[in-house]
Amino acid sequence: MYQTTKRPDSPVSIIGAGIAGAWQALLFAQAGHSVTLHERSDAAMTDATSHWAGGMLAPYCEAEVAEPIISRLGLRSLDIWRRELPDTPFNGSLVVALPRERNDFERFARMTEGHQRLDAAGLAALEPSLEGRFREALFFPTEGHVEPRRVLPKLHERIRAAGGTIKFSSDVSAKDLDGIVIDCRGLVARDEAPELRGVKGEMILIETDEVQLARPVRLIHPRWPLYVIPREAGLFMLGATSIEAEDTGVSVRSALELLGAAYAVHPAFGEARIVEFGSGLRPAFPDNLPRIGVRGDRIAVNGLFRHGFLIAPALAELTLAYVERGQIDNEVMQCA
Ligand SMILES: Cc1cc2nc3c(=O)[nH]c(=O)nc-3n(C[C@H](O)[C@H](O)[C@H](O)COP(=O)(O)OP(=O)(O)OC[C@H]3O[C@@H](n4cnc5c(N)ncnc54)[C@H](O)[C@@H]3O)c2cc1C
Repeated sequence: MYQTTKRPDSPVSIIGAGIAGAWQALLFAQAGHSVTLHERSDAAMTDATSHWAGGMLAPYCEAEVAEPIISRLGLRSLDIWRRELPDTPFNGSLVVALPRERNDFERFARMTEGHQRLDAAGLAALEPSLEGRFREALFFPTEGHVEPRRVLPKLHERIRAAGGTIKFSSDVSAKDLDGIVIDCRGLVARDEAPELRGVKGEMILIETDEVQLARPVRLIHPRWPLYVIPREAGLFMLGATSIEAEDTGVSVRSALELLGAAYAVHPAFGEARIVEFGSGLRPAFPDNLPRIGVRGDRIAVNGLFRHGFLIAPALAELTLAYVERGQIDNEVMQCA
């Protein structure tokens, strides 16, 4: 059994207040550790990939393309989200397709579990705005979604309430910190993990009061999963591309596809106001799987790729179990 070289009551420093670091800080602070969370940007967190995310908590839908470990971590995380932030919306998610994508729709149904098939009337009963738009849909009733730009401050508030300290504008290096250090720097951690790469995800925020949705709607698309996520006050996020590139910005082609997807979900989105274009770089290892790298009391949590919101709580729980009890999860942890 591995063990940290520090006593479990050593101070815990966490670097990076994105979704990975925020959940680490919260679970460690609640467990009674003396936690300091360092974030080099200000509280707006616009440099974090987490700022740009859709925030879908969709372990069943993601199983269409992700490996079983993502479902395992994701399902565990749903319980932790429910326990820690009980007001998280768990209204489920919907998958729909245009008639020409019928085969891919059936493939999605075969590749995933935890869904119910809805006919047009069932879809309209759930989402009246979508009445007459699609002949059928898949409904994943137990999935949730969060608004990243609201939930990050909420998690930060909870960390303080649990006795943790958060230092914004604090650009730190692990070697300057004592005690247990948990590195959650996302793509910036390439200095220590050169195999990390950024996978660009583009998004668009639009605003209209002509469409009301209670849950994310995914539109089957031949290249990437496109979706419309309802935010508060008539806002909708359209996401997300997945491109092997590390530039920022949104291409015309991606904008056309994202806006086209929204228009296909509901033509009233054609009259919506564009509020924002943006993109973030998802931190990914070559196998696109998350990793908790352990070197004694130096721990690195990274590679959350397109599942950060979905799996961060479970990763934090595993890190805590390692620090407190020396417990190793062989699927996720790599010990030097
Ligand atoms: C368009 C898009 C849509 C997405 N949709 C979803 C989704 O629906 N569901 C989902 O689960 N995931 C989604 N993701 C993926 C998710 O956003 C990422 O997996 C997640 O944000 C990665 O979080 P992180 O905490 O590892 O990194 P980050 O959010 O980048 O956080 C790292 C933080 O570390 C800080 N930092 C770096 N160096 C230092 C230092 N030296 N000192 C102090 N601080 C430092 C940075 O400033 C940053 O704030 C999406 C991503 C994109 C781009």
